[in-house]
Amino acid sequence: MTENTTAAPRSVLVTGGNRGIGLAIAEAFLAEGDRVAVTSRSGGAPEGALDLVCDVTDPDAVERAFAEIEAAHGPVEVLVANAGITRDTLVLRMSEDDWSSVVETNLTGSFRLAKRAAKGMLRLRRGRIIFISSVVGLLGSAGQVNYAASKAGLVGMARSLARELGSRSITANVVAPGFVETDMTAVLSDDQKKAIKAQVPLGRYAATSEVASAVTWLASDGAGYVTGAVIPVDGGLGMGH
Ligand code: NDP
Repeated sequence: MTENTTAAPRSVLVTGGNRGIGLAIAEAFLAEGDRVAVTSRSGGAPEGALDLVCDVTDPDAVERAFAEIEAAHGPVEVLVANAGITRDTLVLRMSEDDWSSVVETNLTGSFRLAKRAAKGMLRLRRGRIIFISSVVGLLGSAGQVNYAASKAGLVGMARSLARELGSRSITANVVAPGFVETDMTAVLSDDQKKAIKAQVPLGRYAATSEVASAVTWLASDGAGYVTGAVIPVDGGLGMGH
Protein backbone atom coordinates (compact mmCIF):
# COMPACT_ATOMS: atom_id res chain seq x y z
CA MET A 1 0.00 0.00 0.00
CA THR A 2 1.32 3.47 -0.87
CA GLU A 3 1.62 5.61 2.23
CA ASN A 4 -0.11 8.96 2.48
CA THR A 5 2.88 11.19 3.03
CA THR A 6 0.98 14.47 3.39
CA ALA A 7 1.39 15.81 6.90
CA ALA A 8 -2.27 16.18 7.86
CA PRO A 9 -4.86 13.42 7.67
CA ARG A 10 -7.21 13.94 4.74
CA SER A 11 -11.00 14.15 4.73
CA VAL A 12 -12.09 11.11 2.72
CA LEU A 13 -15.62 10.17 1.65
CA VAL A 14 -16.39 6.62 0.54
CA THR A 15 -19.94 6.03 -0.68
CA GLY A 16 -21.36 2.55 -0.24
CA GLY A 17 -18.74 1.92 2.43
CA ASN A 18 -20.70 -0.32 4.79
CA ARG A 19 -19.82 -3.57 2.99
CA GLY A 20 -18.00 -5.12 0.04
CA ILE A 21 -15.49 -3.09 -1.94
CA GLY A 22 -16.43 0.21 -0.28
CA LEU A 23 -15.79 -1.21 3.19
CA ALA A 24 -12.32 -2.39 2.14
CA ILE A 25 -11.59 1.05 0.69
CA ALA A 26 -12.74 2.80 3.88
CA GLU A 27 -10.60 0.47 6.01
CA ALA A 28 -7.56 1.12 3.80
CA PHE A 29 -7.87 4.90 4.23
CA LEU A 30 -8.42 4.50 7.99
CA ALA A 31 -5.22 2.42 8.13
CA GLU A 32 -3.40 5.34 6.51
CA GLY A 33 -4.62 7.64 9.29
CA ASP A 34 -7.17 9.59 7.27
CA ARG A 35 -10.51 10.95 8.53
CA VAL A 36 -13.01 8.78 6.76
CA ALA A 37 -16.75 9.26 6.24
CA VAL A 38 -18.80 6.35 4.97
CA THR A 39 -22.27 6.62 3.46
CA SER A 40 -24.90 4.04 2.55
CA ARG A 41 -28.69 3.69 2.62
CA SER A 42 -28.76 1.22 5.52
CA GLY A 43 -25.91 2.62 7.61
CA GLY A 44 -22.92 0.93 9.19
CA ALA A 45 -19.26 1.85 8.99
CA PRO A 46 -15.92 0.46 10.15
CA GLU A 47 -14.69 1.57 13.58
CA GLY A 48 -13.24 5.04 13.44
CA ALA A 49 -15.26 6.19 10.43
CA LEU A 50 -18.10 8.69 10.41
CA ASP A 51 -21.25 6.69 9.63
CA LEU A 52 -23.83 8.56 7.54
CA VAL A 53 -27.08 7.39 6.01
CA CYS A 54 -27.31 8.93 2.55
CA ASP A 55 -29.07 7.65 -0.55
CA VAL A 56 -27.05 8.94 -3.50
CA THR A 57 -30.24 9.25 -5.56
CA ASP A 58 -31.50 11.95 -3.17
CA PRO A 59 -29.89 15.38 -3.80
CA ASP A 60 -30.97 16.73 -0.38
CA ALA A 61 -29.48 13.72 1.41
CA VAL A 62 -26.20 14.22 -0.45
CA GLU A 63 -26.14 17.90 0.54
CA ARG A 64 -26.83 16.98 4.19
CA ALA A 65 -24.07 14.37 4.19
CA PHE A 66 -21.53 16.87 2.86
CA ALA A 67 -22.56 19.42 5.50
CA GLU A 68 -22.01 16.81 8.25
CA ILE A 69 -18.66 15.73 6.83
CA GLU A 70 -17.47 19.32 6.48
CA ALA A 71 -18.44 20.03 10.09
CA ALA A 72 -16.72 16.89 11.40
CA HIS A 73 -13.71 16.43 9.10
CA GLY A 74 -13.44 19.52 6.91
CA PRO A 75 -14.02 19.68 3.14
CA VAL A 76 -13.78 16.39 1.28
CA GLU A 77 -10.31 16.06 -0.23
CA VAL A 78 -10.72 12.51 -1.54
CA LEU A 79 -14.04 11.33 -2.97
CA VAL A 80 -14.51 7.65 -3.74
CA ALA A 81 -17.82 7.25 -5.60
CA ASN A 82 -18.33 3.53 -5.04
CA ALA A 83 -22.05 3.04 -4.32
CA GLY A 84 -23.61 0.99 -7.08
CA ILE A 85 -26.35 -1.48 -7.90
CA THR A 86 -27.23 -4.01 -10.59
CA ARG A 87 -30.64 -4.87 -12.06
CA ASP A 88 -29.63 -7.50 -14.60
CA THR A 89 -31.92 -8.79 -17.29
CA LEU A 90 -31.91 -9.18 -21.07
CA VAL A 91 -32.65 -6.02 -23.02
CA LEU A 92 -36.16 -6.91 -24.18
CA ARG A 93 -37.16 -7.60 -20.58
CA MET A 94 -35.40 -4.53 -19.17
CA SER A 95 -38.00 -2.10 -17.87
CA GLU A 96 -37.66 1.68 -17.84
CA ASP A 97 -37.33 1.35 -14.08
CA ASP A 98 -34.52 -1.25 -14.36
CA TRP A 99 -32.70 1.23 -16.59
CA SER A 100 -33.34 4.41 -14.67
CA SER A 101 -32.70 3.05 -11.16
CA VAL A 102 -29.27 1.73 -12.18
CA VAL A 103 -28.30 4.85 -14.13
CA GLU A 104 -29.64 7.12 -11.38
CA THR A 105 -27.59 5.35 -8.68
CA ASN A 106 -24.39 4.51 -10.53
CA LEU A 107 -24.01 7.46 -12.90
CA THR A 108 -26.21 10.36 -11.77
CA GLY A 109 -25.40 9.66 -8.11
CA SER A 110 -21.69 9.83 -8.93
CA PHE A 111 -22.19 13.09 -10.84
CA ARG A 112 -24.05 14.56 -7.86
CA LEU A 113 -21.24 13.60 -5.47
CA ALA A 114 -18.45 14.76 -7.76
CA LYS A 115 -20.14 18.11 -8.35
CA ARG A 116 -20.60 18.72 -4.64
CA ALA A 117 -17.10 17.54 -3.78
CA ALA A 118 -15.57 19.70 -6.53
CA LYS A 119 -17.00 22.80 -4.86
CA GLY A 120 -14.79 22.31 -1.80
CA MET A 121 -11.83 20.99 -3.79
CA LEU A 122 -11.79 24.08 -6.03
CA ARG A 123 -11.48 26.23 -2.93
CA LEU A 124 -8.74 24.01 -1.51
CA ARG A 125 -7.01 23.90 -4.90
CA ARG A 126 -6.45 20.16 -4.55
CA GLY A 127 -8.48 16.99 -4.56
CA ARG A 128 -8.83 13.42 -5.76
CA ILE A 129 -12.01 12.09 -7.36
CA ILE A 130 -12.11 8.32 -7.88
CA PHE A 131 -15.02 6.52 -9.55
CA ILE A 132 -15.53 2.78 -9.14
CA SER A 133 -16.55 1.58 -12.58
CA SER A 134 -16.33 -2.00 -13.87
CA VAL A 135 -14.58 -4.01 -16.54
CA VAL A 136 -18.01 -4.50 -18.16
CA GLY A 137 -18.26 -0.75 -18.82
CA LEU A 138 -15.65 -1.27 -21.53
CA LEU A 139 -16.22 -4.93 -22.46
CA GLY A 140 -20.02 -4.93 -22.47
CA SER A 141 -22.01 -7.68 -20.81
CA ALA A 142 -25.12 -9.53 -21.97
CA GLY A 143 -27.91 -8.87 -19.47
CA GLN A 144 -26.29 -5.69 -18.16
CA VAL A 145 -27.17 -3.01 -20.73
CA ASN A 146 -28.13 -0.61 -17.92
CA TYR A 147 -25.17 -1.39 -15.66
CA ALA A 148 -22.53 -1.39 -18.42
CA ALA A 149 -23.84 1.92 -19.80
CA SER A 150 -23.73 3.50 -16.35
CA LYS A 151 -20.18 2.26 -15.76
CA ALA A 152 -18.97 3.41 -19.21
CA GLY A 153 -20.50 6.81 -18.48
CA LEU A 154 -18.19 7.18 -15.50
CA VAL A 155 -15.18 7.11 -17.84
CA GLY A 156 -16.44 10.05 -19.89
CA MET A 157 -17.36 11.88 -16.72
CA ALA A 158 -13.95 11.34 -15.10
CA ARG A 159 -12.10 12.43 -18.23
CA SER A 160 -14.22 15.57 -18.56
CA LEU A 161 -13.66 16.41 -14.90
CA ALA A 162 -9.93 15.77 -15.36
CA ARG A 163 -9.89 18.41 -18.10
CA GLU A 164 -12.14 20.84 -16.27
CA LEU A 165 -10.48 20.68 -12.86
CA GLY A 166 -6.86 19.79 -13.64
CA SER A 167 -5.60 23.37 -13.45
CA ARG A 168 -6.56 23.37 -9.75
CA SER A 169 -4.58 20.19 -8.97
CA ILE A 170 -7.73 18.08 -8.81
CA THR A 171 -7.43 14.65 -10.41
CA ALA A 172 -10.30 12.45 -11.59
CA ASN A 173 -9.71 8.77 -12.25
CA VAL A 174 -11.56 5.50 -12.65
CA VAL A 175 -10.89 2.10 -11.13
CA ALA A 176 -12.41 -0.72 -13.19
CA PRO A 177 -12.58 -3.94 -11.17
CA GLY A 178 -13.27 -7.32 -12.70
CA PHE A 179 -15.15 -9.84 -10.59
CA VAL A 180 -14.80 -9.36 -6.85
CA GLU A 181 -16.14 -11.57 -4.03
CA THR A 182 -18.96 -9.44 -2.55
CA ASP A 183 -22.75 -9.49 -2.03
CA MET A 184 -23.11 -8.21 -5.61
CA THR A 185 -21.50 -11.32 -7.11
CA ALA A 186 -22.82 -13.76 -4.47
CA VAL A 187 -26.05 -13.99 -6.48
CA LEU A 188 -24.24 -15.64 -9.43
CA SER A 189 -24.65 -19.41 -9.78
CA ASP A 190 -21.67 -21.75 -9.37
CA ASP A 191 -21.75 -22.42 -13.12
CA GLN A 192 -21.68 -18.68 -13.88
CA LYS A 193 -18.77 -18.19 -11.45
CA LYS A 194 -16.85 -21.06 -13.05
CA ALA A 195 -17.43 -19.63 -16.54
CA ILE A 196 -16.22 -16.19 -15.42
CA LYS A 197 -13.06 -17.57 -13.78
CA ALA A 198 -12.26 -19.50 -16.97
CA GLN A 199 -12.05 -16.16 -18.84
CA VAL A 200 -9.81 -14.44 -16.29
CA PRO A 201 -6.09 -14.92 -16.99
CA LEU A 202 -5.37 -14.99 -13.24
CA GLY A 203 -8.12 -17.61 -12.84
CA ARG A 204 -9.76 -16.16 -9.74
CA TYR A 205 -11.91 -13.35 -8.38
CA ALA A 206 -10.29 -10.26 -6.83
CA ALA A 207 -10.19 -9.69 -3.10
CA THR A 208 -11.80 -6.42 -2.06
CA SER A 209 -8.41 -5.29 -0.66
CA GLU A 210 -6.92 -5.55 -4.16
CA VAL A 211 -9.39 -2.95 -5.42
CA ALA A 212 -8.79 -0.80 -2.33
CA SER A 213 -5.04 -0.66 -2.92
CA ALA A 214 -5.54 0.80 -6.42
CA VAL A 215 -7.83 3.43 -4.89
CA THR A 216 -5.45 4.44 -2.09
CA TRP A 217 -2.65 4.64 -4.66
CA LEU A 218 -4.70 7.03 -6.85
CA ALA A 219 -5.24 9.16 -3.75
CA SER A 220 -1.56 9.10 -2.76
CA ASP A 221 1.06 11.76 -3.39
CA GLY A 222 2.78 9.31 -5.76
CA ALA A 223 -0.21 9.44 -8.14
CA GLY A 224 -0.28 13.24 -8.30
CA TYR A 225 0.36 13.27 -12.08
CA VAL A 226 -2.26 10.61 -12.91
CA THR A 227 -5.59 11.95 -14.14
CA GLY A 228 -8.23 10.79 -16.59
CA ALA A 229 -6.90 7.24 -16.23
CA VAL A 230 -8.82 3.98 -16.12
CA ILE A 231 -7.00 1.54 -13.83
CA PRO A 232 -8.09 -2.06 -14.35
CA VAL A 233 -8.10 -4.43 -11.36
CA ASP A 234 -9.52 -7.35 -13.27
CA GLY A 235 -7.02 -10.21 -13.34
CA GLY A 236 -6.45 -9.45 -17.03
CA LEU A 237 -10.07 -9.97 -18.08
CA GLY A 238 -10.36 -6.67 -19.93
CA MET A 239 -6.88 -6.50 -21.46
CA GLY A 240 -6.74 -4.19 -24.46
CA HIS A 241 -9.74 -2.11 -23.45
P1 NDP B 1 -22.27 -4.43 -2.75
O1 NDP B 1 -23.59 -4.76 -3.33
O2 NDP B 1 -21.60 -5.39 -1.85
O3 NDP B 1 -22.32 -3.00 -2.05
C1 NDP B 1 -22.92 -1.91 -2.67
C2 NDP B 1 -22.76 -0.71 -1.77
O4 NDP B 1 -23.42 0.42 -2.34
C3 NDP B 1 -23.38 -0.93 -0.41
O5 NDP B 1 -22.59 -0.28 0.55
C4 NDP B 1 -24.74 -0.27 -0.55
O6 NDP B 1 -25.21 0.10 0.73
C5 NDP B 1 -24.37 0.94 -1.42
N1 NDP B 1 -25.48 1.52 -2.15
C6 NDP B 1 -26.23 0.94 -3.12
N2 NDP B 1 -27.17 1.80 -3.57
C7 NDP B 1 -27.00 2.96 -2.89
C8 NDP B 1 -27.63 4.22 -2.90
N3 NDP B 1 -28.68 4.48 -3.70
N4 NDP B 1 -27.18 5.18 -2.07
C9 NDP B 1 -26.16 4.94 -1.25
N5 NDP B 1 -25.49 3.78 -1.18
C10 NDP B 1 -25.91 2.79 -1.99
O7 NDP B 1 -21.37 -4.11 -4.02
P2 NDP B 1 -19.80 -4.23 -4.27
O8 NDP B 1 -19.03 -3.91 -3.06
O9 NDP B 1 -19.57 -5.48 -4.99
O10 NDP B 1 -19.65 -3.06 -5.35
C11 NDP B 1 -19.16 -1.77 -5.04
C12 NDP B 1 -18.93 -1.03 -6.35
O11 NDP B 1 -18.02 -1.78 -7.16
C13 NDP B 1 -20.20 -0.88 -7.18
O12 NDP B 1 -20.21 0.38 -7.81
C14 NDP B 1 -20.08 -1.99 -8.20
O13 NDP B 1 -20.78 -1.69 -9.36
C15 NDP B 1 -18.58 -2.02 -8.42
N6 NDP B 1 -18.08 -3.27 -8.95
C16 NDP B 1 -18.27 -4.47 -8.29
C17 NDP B 1 -17.76 -5.63 -8.82
C18 NDP B 1 -17.93 -6.96 -8.17
O14 NDP B 1 -17.56 -7.97 -8.79
N7 NDP B 1 -18.42 -7.05 -6.95
C19 NDP B 1 -17.03 -5.62 -10.10
C20 NDP B 1 -16.87 -4.34 -10.69
C21 NDP B 1 -17.38 -3.21 -10.13
P3 NDP B 1 -26.79 0.10 1.09
O15 NDP B 1 -27.39 -1.09 0.42
O16 NDP B 1 -26.83 0.09 2.57
O17 NDP B 1 -27.25 1.38 0.51
